[in-house]
Parts: sequence; structure tokens; C-alpha cells
Amino acid sequence: MVEVANQRFGAKAFRRRELMDTTEQAVRQRGLWTKDDDELSGSVGTKSRGLAQIDFRFFDLKRSGALVSDRRDRWRLASPNPPSLSEFVQPPSDIEAPPNRAETHVQRIVRDTNAAKSLKALYDYKCQVCGLRIEPASCSFYFEVHHVRPLGGEHCGLDNHSNMLVLCPNHHAMFDFGIPHFLPSEMIFIGETSHNLTCKHNLTADVIAYHNKQIHSEFSA
Ligand SMILES: [Zn+2]
Repeated sequence: MVEVANQRFGAKAFRRRELMDTTEQAVRQRGLWTKDDDELSGSVGTKSRGLAQIDFRFFDLKRSGALVSDRRDRWRLASPNPPSLSEFVQPPSDIEAPPNRAETHVQRIVRDTNAAKSLKALYDYKCQVCGLRIEPASCSFYFEVHHVRPLGGEHCGLDNHSNMLVLCPNHHAMFDFGIPHFLPSEMIFIGETSHNLTCKHNLTADVIAYHNKQIHSEFSA
């Protein structure tokens, strides 16, 4: 009853019958209201036995201090709990419906993961730009390898170390968008900021030139 009273009335005053009815509803919704509760008549007027039992609980709750009555048949909770925040937070409108879906066909190149795997170990799974290492589980690392001259389309880059960088997801995305450019081979500029690459292997000059001319200029034009 206290839980129902808190949900239904909070700090507001209520009549005894109002709380009895809402308590009965709550009990029915939970499947705990039996046929006997309807059929057996109780000792209080025409109420069912179940409703009468709820009525009797008023005395227990008043004795325990949970319910107080400040005038005839006007009750309230002694210490209502504030409603939880989630009751007031409306979901953002953009998640009320699932996003639209579109069917696409993607052509993927099967990459030589062995080349990528051996390079990651060389860098201890750390981004060559920022040094970030992502460890989703103990001794398990997430890494991405970027092909400076892309493998697909008209680019025809090679899947070998001289065309690869070990990067975190952020810097990988920046390279995919052609945002950084090399100046010289072991330094990149992202906007106005220079970053020294950690380099334990060498990119070939033609790969760097390809990035600066075809990838960087393509996106910054
Ligand atoms: Zn990074």
C-alpha cells in the first residue's frame, strides 16, 4: 500500500477509498487477486474480503507511522519518496522510432591480416599518431591498420608494411577522410597542428606522395 500510495499520490492527500481502489488495481495487475477475493464477502459492508483486508491494513500502517490522517478520512504518506528521475525524462524524439534502413551492396577486399597483425605487435598496439592503446579486455587489444594508398577502387595500393599505419579509430577516420597530410614522412599536419609519428617502419616515398596528392588534396579541395 505504501508503494502504491507513493506512486499514485506522492505527497498529496487522499481518501481511504482512493488508496484501497488503486491498491486493488495494482494487486490485480500483478495477478495476485484471486476469485475468492471477489466472491467472499468480508466483514465490512459489501466490500469483498480482499478489499476489506486492504482496509484493515490502514490501521497497521497508521500504527507504524507510514500513513497519517490529519482530518477525518484525509490521509497522506508520512514520508513520501520523490519519484525517480526516469519518470520525468522523456526519451529524445529521435529514438522513438527505429532509423530508416536502406539496402546497400559493399564490395570488400580480403586483406592480408597477417601483415597487419605483425605490424601491430611492432607498435605494441598503440596509435602511431597519439599513442592510444585500446584494451577491451585484459591483454586483448583493439587496433586498426590504415592503408595509406587505399587498396580499393582505382588506387590499387599494396597490402604491405610500407603502405600501412597502425592507428586508433579516430585517427584512422581522419586518414580515411584525407584530413592529415605528411610533412615530411614522419610528421603529419592535422589542420594547423603538427604531430610526430612514431615510426619503427618506413612508408615508401611514393605512398606518402600519393596520399598528399590524391587523398589529402581530394578531400581538402
Ligand atoms: Zn590516435
